[in-house]
Amino acid sequence: MTDGAERFLLTVSAVFDAAHRIRDAGGRCERLHGHSWRLEATFGGDLGPSGMVRDFLDLEREMERRVVATLDHSDLNDIFENPTTELICRWIWERLAPLGVVEVRLWETPSFSVTCRGGGGG
Ligand SMILES: [Zn+2]
Repeated sequence: MTDGAERFLLTVSAVFDAAHRIRDAGGRCERLHGHSWRLEATFGGDLGPSGMVRDFLDLEREMERRVVATLDHSDLNDIFENPTTELICRWIWERLAPLGVVEVRLWETPSFSVTCRGGGGG
C-alpha cells in the first residue's frame, strides 16, 4: 500500500421521533405507538489531500434534508403502506444512495435495529 488509496468509512448519526402502526404484526405492534428512532448512515471514501474523506457537516445536512425532515414528528403510516423498520431502512438507503452510502442502520429501540446494505428487491 504505497499509493495512499486507503478506504475509509464515515458514520453519521441522527435521531427522529415518529409514530407507526404495523399491519398484520399481531399483538401490540398493530396499535399506534411511537419510537425515538436512531439512524446511523455509513459512507465510504478515500483520504483526500486535506486529510479528510468527507465533510461530516455536509453529510449531516444532507441526511437532514433527504431523510430526517420528512420522517421526524410524522405518522409513518402516512408515508409507508406498512412502516416496518426494514422498509423504512431501505427507503433511507435509497434516499442516501446518491451520497455514496454503504450501510444504513436504523434503531427502533435501544435493543432492536435493522441494517440495510442495498436498495434492491421488492
Ligand atoms: Zn414500533
